[in-house]
Amino acid sequence: MNGEASPAFLLVNRVEVISECCDACGNGFASNPAGEKALIASVGSQNRVLRFCSSCGDNINSRIQSEEARARYIWDWAIPLKDGRGLTHNS
Ligand SMILES: [Zn+2]
Repeated sequence: MNGEASPAFLLVNRVEVISECCDACGNGFASNPAGEKALIASVGSQNRVLRFCSSCGDNINSRIQSEEARARYIWDWAIPLKDGRGLTHNS
């Protein structure tokens, strides 16, 4: 930890590095190097992407009542990246 690092996570199946936290609770996605599941939602006609940690994702997933809605949610897997590695700034 050198103070300049921001938390970053790799979303395995989206092959995307994110520095945001869960869109519901604001916590990070995973602290264990093995990672943790994350729920990805694409919302509205513009497919805005929301990302939820495993506990928020479980809660949301348990409320889905239609296949049409379910199709908008995908479980992915978040891996914490050491020192924010993978982000575009590399100083
Ligand atoms: Zn959460």
